[in-house]
Amino acid sequence: MIFESHAHYEDARFDEDREALLKSFPQNGIDYVINVGSSLKTTKQSILLAEQYDFIYAAAGVHPEETAELNEENFAWLCEQMKKEKVVAVGEIGLDYHWDEPERSVQKQWFERQIALARQVSLPMIIHSRDAAKDTLDIMKACKAEEAGGVIHCFSYGVEMAREYLNMGFYIGIGGVVTFKNAKKLKEVAEYVPLDRILLETDCPYMAPEPHRGKRNSSLYLTYVAEKLADIKGMDVEKVYEKTRENGKRMYRIEK
Ligand SMILES: [Zn+2]
Repeated sequence: MIFESHAHYEDARFDEDREALLKSFPQNGIDYVINVGSSLKTTKQSILLAEQYDFIYAAAGVHPEETAELNEENFAWLCEQMKKEKVVAVGEIGLDYHWDEPERSVQKQWFERQIALARQVSLPMIIHSRDAAKDTLDIMKACKAEEAGGVIHCFSYGVEMAREYLNMGFYIGIGGVVTFKNAKKLKEVAEYVPLDRILLETDCPYMAPEPHRGKRNSSLYLTYVAEKLADIKGMDVEKVYEKTRENGKRMYRIEK
């Protein structure tokens, strides 16, 4: 059975077949899905999906690119969502200097506030960090992010950075990129990180693995990611499924 640790099924690209697709998951071996919020709106939608489907859990948070929408009033609303039964993480939160929007000071302010929130409610956090390696790590250390823990999703840095996060107790999220021919750095990271600290993720509808690169991604394609990981680590793919599922349940503290 497969633990999908990062998906966005509220996305409009699933409007046509969302229900049929989600309903097909249990028979395709997918028994847990974390649907991750990236704005106030998608946080609300993620919680609704989690309420609708037994095997879906929600993360509540605002992605760095969306932080311009935050203010004290709606941040208070976000804090309230953490009390909901199926909200299992704060995320996705972080820094994105690739697009550099909104300005960095705004991204940093709300990253810090959301880390503090995760610590306050004792939930793990889902970190999005793109082209912002140093600032992400500096802020996480200054804000004692390790007290809440979590995952660095869609990990895009090298082995040195992976070591820093492993030392802080964080998990490393690995998705479709690992199947790309030019993903040398991520393959090195996948080899380096112990299997008991890896989470399988799609980030769907984005990041479809080979041979579906560029198309709409879904959790059904996690098999390609798992097979590549098994190949890199020289182990049976069943072991990859089993361990990453245990990891997901442990990190998100899902008991059933
Ligand atoms: Zn995401």
